[in-house]
Amino acid sequence: MHATITVLPGDGIGPEVTSIAVSLLKDIAARYGHSFTFNEAMFGGCAIDAYGDSFPPATVKACESANAVLLGAVGGPKWSDPTAKVRPEQGLLRLRSHFGLFANLRPVKAYPMLAGHAPLRAELLENVDILFIRELTGGIYFGPRQEQGDGDTAWDTMIYTVAEVERVAEVAFKAARMRRSYVLSVDKANVLASSRLWRRTINQVAERYPDVKVEHALVDAFAMQMIKTPSRYDVVVAENMFGDILTDESAVLSGSLGMLPSASLGTGKFGVYEPIHGSAPDIAGRGIANPTGTILSAAMLLRHSLGLEAEALALENAVQAALEAGARTGDIAEPGKPGLGSAEYAERVRAALAAVKIG
Ligand code: NAD
Repeated sequence: MHATITVLPGDGIGPEVTSIAVSLLKDIAARYGHSFTFNEAMFGGCAIDAYGDSFPPATVKACESANAVLLGAVGGPKWSDPTAKVRPEQGLLRLRSHFGLFANLRPVKAYPMLAGHAPLRAELLENVDILFIRELTGGIYFGPRQEQGDGDTAWDTMIYTVAEVERVAEVAFKAARMRRSYVLSVDKANVLASSRLWRRTINQVAERYPDVKVEHALVDAFAMQMIKTPSRYDVVVAENMFGDILTDESAVLSGSLGMLPSASLGTGKFGVYEPIHGSAPDIAGRGIANPTGTILSAAMLLRHSLGLEAEALALENAVQAALEAGARTGDIAEPGKPGLGSAEYAERVRAALAAVKIG
């Protein structure tokens, strides 16, 4: 098949990890007889420097003409003034709302070979396999906000409509059917009106999926339960801000922020794929970033936007095989051991990919 993929490397370690994922996608294309065109465009802090705009019109166009977008990360100390008029994160919010990407899928797995690295006891991490579905274009990040008077009062507004909750709930229940048929919905229904609407709507959608078990948890209680009994959960669906916080917390289950991928999807096949970590300015330019989250995001791109399931699995299996064979970047290396640079680690994944049988 032919597909166009727009790459937004972004800032910090973004260009380092996206270039590795692109090189592996090129391997996949060559091996499976596909033709992928890669277009690179400016996004985030580097785009502010070049155009005074984190999501400039040329980048919007490049994304519009693509089947999917692979994104690195944006931001860094240079653009971190919270009072600045243009900020890298605005680009992310605009990208999501421009394409109606309301569902953010974040699979979290605990890799047995990395269990010693995670801050939790190894036995807690057995069989951990959670798919977080975070609502991405509603809630408090998109509601009306204001600072008043001389700045001594400010507010943000958490708003949800039934339609917004319904569409993300549909994604969660459909995903659960392909997995262990269990949805946990997270809210704060004992306090927030928007959470009561959220819970009511989840229950209404659940009626259309009688084969899927549904439960509800309050976000504060779940933040603890997820760490105490992580293997209990299958699909977890949450509103935008709760999902943001919980998915970062869940990174401890996999051993490093560098391990986790994500997909942001709307109603069609188009999606934006990115690792969950940020631009990691503390390690940028040193060639030591863990590219796994971006490689696994590229696998999600193959699956969700291009419908290439076998190719997605091949990439995921190659990562698994490289890890099993002991490939480790510094963030997941055993204490006292140096860890591979990003490029050496990528070569180990590439070799494992070459060894994956096509069939
Ligand atoms: P971060 O995720 O960039 O880094 C947190 C810690 O994890 C750092 O010590 C970093 O070195 C480490 N880390 C992250 N990714 C890694 C990888 N792939 N390999 C090895 N180590 C890795 O979070 P932060 O430091 O809070 O934020 C840095 C910048 O990134 C900020 O400007 C923030 O706004 C931005 N940010 C962007 C996104 C995004 O683009 N989606 C997400 C989160 C943060």
